[in-house]
Amino acid sequence: MAHLLKGLAQPEITESVIPYGKLDATVQELLCAAYVVRQCAYAPYSNFKVGSAFRAKINNQIFTGCNVENAAFTPTACAERTALTKAISEGYQQFSTGAVVAYKPEVFISPCGVCRQFIREFAGNTDIPIYIAQALDERSPEEPFNSDDPVLCTSIFNLLPKSFHTY
Ligand SMILES: [Zn+2]
Repeated sequence: MAHLLKGLAQPEITESVIPYGKLDATVQELLCAAYVVRQCAYAPYSNFKVGSAFRAKINNQIFTGCNVENAAFTPTACAERTALTKAISEGYQQFSTGAVVAYKPEVFISPCGVCRQFIREFAGNTDIPIYIAQALDERSPEEPFNSDDPVLCTSIFNLLPKSFHTY
């Protein structure tokens, strides 16, 4: 019976909190892209701005997205799904890394359940590292993070263990 469990997605990354300055430059670039696009967030109802960025495996291209709210609430699109939808519609379906930035005091903002399933769709059988950082509005877009800012290094299989998938 245990072999049935093995077929389910298992995290390939151990979650940890790492100072921004110790991250790979490509991850820093991805977090900065998420910070910058967060400024485009359309969030008149919640005033809660989120930015996200995913790096495609092909060309290492970065796709960014912000949350786009709606007066009717349910049509709202999250930042993560906006970024991925932009990428998919440009022909990119595989991703090496993702980033999410938002701000609430004393807590990392983690993707919602719908976005976890959405990201998981494009992971296939390979985990995708996800980096989560706090976005402070007073920082400059040219230097949105300090080297000692904490970054949660997790992955989609950590965020959504034993997830639903059919292929
Ligand atoms: Zn979401």
